[in-house]
Amino acid sequence: MTTKNGNLNDGREVYFSGGRLSDLTSDPVFARTLSVIQRYYKLRETDASMSFPGIDGTSISKLFLTPHSASDLSEKRAVYEKIARESFGMLGRTPDFIDTGIAVLPHYADVLGADGRTDYAENAKQWAKMVRRQDLFVSHAIQNPQVDRSRGLQDLLDAGEEFAGVWIKEEREDGVIVRGAKQVNTLAPFADQLLVFNLPGLSIEDSKFALAFWLPLNAAGLKVVCRKPTFRAGSLADHPLANAFDEMDAMLIFDDVFIPNENLLVCGDVALSNAFFGASGLFVHTAHQDEVRGSVKLEFATAIAVRLAEKLGLTEFTRVQEMLGGLTVNLELIRAAVLASELTGHFEGEVFTPNMQTLLAVRVSLTSYYDEVLRVIAEFSSGSAVGIPDFSQFDNPEISDILKSSLSSPLISAEERALLLNLAWDVTHEAFGQRQRTYELLHGGNPMFAKIDHWRNTDLNSGKEMLDKVLQDARDYKD
Ligand SMILES: Cc1cc2nc3c(=O)[nH]c(=O)nc-3n(C[C@H](O)[C@H](O)[C@H](O)COP(=O)(O)OP(=O)(O)OC[C@H]3O[C@@H](n4cnc5c(N)ncnc54)[C@H](O)[C@@H]3O)c2cc1C
Repeated sequence: MTTKNGNLNDGREVYFSGGRLSDLTSDPVFARTLSVIQRYYKLRETDASMSFPGIDGTSISKLFLTPHSASDLSEKRAVYEKIARESFGMLGRTPDFIDTGIAVLPHYADVLGADGRTDYAENAKQWAKMVRRQDLFVSHAIQNPQVDRSRGLQDLLDAGEEFAGVWIKEEREDGVIVRGAKQVNTLAPFADQLLVFNLPGLSIEDSKFALAFWLPLNAAGLKVVCRKPTFRAGSLADHPLANAFDEMDAMLIFDDVFIPNENLLVCGDVALSNAFFGASGLFVHTAHQDEVRGSVKLEFATAIAVRLAEKLGLTEFTRVQEMLGGLTVNLELIRAAVLASELTGHFEGEVFTPNMQTLLAVRVSLTSYYDEVLRVIAEFSSGSAVGIPDFSQFDNPEISDILKSSLSSPLISAEERALLLNLAWDVTHEAFGQRQRTYELLHGGNPMFAKIDHWRNTDLNSGKEMLDKVLQDARDYKD
């Protein structure tokens, strides 16, 4: 049973809409989202450029290609783009996100070391091999619940807060029992396996929380508690995005879950837990996928804005032209920066690694560029989108003719106009659109931290040299 073959009924505990789902694939929300995720596996079957031959001749997904050059990164980009286009960028955590990081994990794994319990480095290498061989969909959970951000995790646990993070409740010879929670894991209900780890920031007292491990979705005691759906009553014509791409998020509850030694990648070592995301290669390679996916979504949203302007007769206004130009400039910069991240990459051992500074700049910019395009779409369309009736009225003989006549224009038919405005409404106003907006703002952490990180790591030496020179020239000046 894997995501690839679409059978998710492996005993996993998924809670949704007031109950536990006994058959994930029979629920309409889940069935549609699963079908979108599976498009990746279908592409793999039909598009030879999605794969490469392994040493034994088997076909391996290009997600698992270890990049050795800028051109390898560009080949991987083409794969991310194809996958993203299947959902117009609306599914952020498709299998390519974490899997592309797992591709490079064996090259970085030695940093994880070994201790009396297990060989973490070897565990990582063996796990990466399994994921690659079976083309598994791994989803990830990092962020701890917002119990009280002003306090440390151990401090909270001492105060009885058992679900402020995931912690080692009991150590056994063959593994550990973990308890606790992770606050959000996108697409978790659909994945084959979960990768659980921490962001940097644990303090020395938090060693019980210093964990990185993988587990299958049907691990005993793991509860996947889904948020409310963004799926709406009505047809796909009424909600072209909301009813097709509800990328389900879920809270994970670990109710005494056994993690065998061989699934552990970090256990009890605070320094390694803090280093894990960066030192495993996962951060930078998943960021490459993430920014490519983000650029596809920005392209899609920009196209909506332009189509609206054209079909609502707005393109003659200079102000509108300037707004559209602003959007296309943003898109151009993002596309160029993604390319630059590949071309200015560097070797880390034998892995050719994209430029993280450039990717961080893309990530931060996308948070505001996506917001900007939504504002433009809303400004162009909201007034008339809010008045669009449900699509079935076009078939109501009492009103159909007059409705078609009143909603049509020389630029667009009534039904086409309704479709376009419904699309605009979904992406800007619906719960679906608001969740997408929040996703772009926060899925990579608060952009504040990314900006601080970027500034700290920027090489401004040549700028500072110019500054020193102009100051020196001024000092040396003699009238
Ligand atoms: C739609 C969506 C999907 C997501 N999917 C996933 C997923 O699949 N897997 C996953 O692991 N995570 C996921 N996330 C979680 C994401 O990682 C977090 O939302 C993000 O890291 C921000 O953390 P937080 O929301 O817990 O905010 P917090 O860390 O609680 O911060 C809240 C606010 O408090 C302030 N603040 C907090 N700490 C500081 C500080 N040190 N200094 C100054 N100000 C501070 C800031 O204003 C900050 O924005 C998702 C989030 C969203 C919205």
